[in-house]
Amino acid sequence: MRLAERALAISASPTLAIDAQAKKMAKEGIKVISFGVGEPDFDTPQNIKDAAELALRQGKTKYTPVAGIDELKAAIVNKLKRDNGLDYDPADIVVSSGAKHSLFNVAQVLVNPGDEVILPSPYWVSYEEIIKMAGGIPQIVNTREENDFRLTPAELEAAITPRTRAIILNSPSNPTGSVYTRDALEGLGKVIEKHDIAVVTDEIYEKLIYDGMDHVSLGSLSPALKEKTVLVNGLSKSYSMTGWRIGYIAAPTRIAKAVADFQSHSASNANTFSQWASVEALNGDQGPMIEMVKEFVKRRDYIYERFVAIPGISCRKPNGAFYLFPNVSFSFGKRHGSDLIQDSTDLAAALLKKAEIAVVPGSAFGVSDFIRLSYATSMENIREGLDRFEKFWNELD
Ligand SMILES: *Cc1c(COP(=O)(O)O)cnc(C)c1O
Repeated sequence: MRLAERALAISASPTLAIDAQAKKMAKEGIKVISFGVGEPDFDTPQNIKDAAELALRQGKTKYTPVAGIDELKAAIVNKLKRDNGLDYDPADIVVSSGAKHSLFNVAQVLVNPGDEVILPSPYWVSYEEIIKMAGGIPQIVNTREENDFRLTPAELEAAITPRTRAIILNSPSNPTGSVYTRDALEGLGKVIEKHDIAVVTDEIYEKLIYDGMDHVSLGSLSPALKEKTVLVNGLSKSYSMTGWRIGYIAAPTRIAKAVADFQSHSASNANTFSQWASVEALNGDQGPMIEMVKEFVKRRDYIYERFVAIPGISCRKPNGAFYLFPNVSFSFGKRHGSDLIQDSTDLAAALLKKAEIAVVPGSAFGVSDFIRLSYATSMENIREGLDRFEKFWNELD
């Protein structure tokens, strides 16, 4: 039996090999320290769990409207007003089974086969596959470390062709932790306003932002930009709700309707009691989230300070999300014992084998010179993991 070309075109996640190896080692009783995780290590706050339990007891276990319950759409409309200065109608909101699902839907309704979608690199690996699954062509544009991995207006202008349909912007960024300032967004906005293209803004790390920086939504900069923007957000990262599977879009009504129609024949509504829990997450006590952010700042400071002190490593200070993205190209061409390190994939493999720490090679995000370390793990693990990393690094020759 043959598979469809669509299936054959999808690449397996480049992180899977490392992940499988780490799990195998853990099973053998080796204490692997993982910097690989892409989700907060905090439990979902109790008030949110309570709201889900109540919904279950009340029998809220049936289908809901495809685009979400009115109460959740209203909570999202309020949140967008309160946090982002954006005015949307409930008809502009579609709730899906996670932000990844929202992104998939958006690509399906915006992208025709052969359309180009601009993807600044380093990028979250699923964007590339989501574009390809819609028949689109990812137009990868490398950003520069010295620009804090932010796409510049000139780089954007140069990448736009008559086939460009959309651009994806992710701030705070996975994997770099970099944040687009208002100035930086205004620069890009001027370019975007001149062209007939859509912008998909992935704002999933909005709340995980540090150093007094503000999260700015591109769509809030002007009515013209709002008309071109599909805002994607979700509950997974901000409220430690990765398993609940709630994401959403806010977009011009015509686009929201197309997404809801598309979803009506694929997933239908997102999980009913997760939707009720999400109403509480957005409207209820924000205290637990604020505590989580404080803890992330402490860890970020610690892991960053230790990394910049390591000879040969360059590392930008991430202002958001929960990742550090150091440049490790210093190690290329060196050996650790019998292991020759030629790129970040070799480095990640050697770190796992010799230092028993798991990191994600930059190749998973379209760049080779870097590794990604998630600090969504305990301070104790971070300390021990960094000790192991330093020892390994000093043994390179
Ligand atoms: C985690 C993540 C998402 C998706 O999260 P969901 O759990 O599907 O809501 C989307 N974009 C980025 C950049 C992420 O890191």
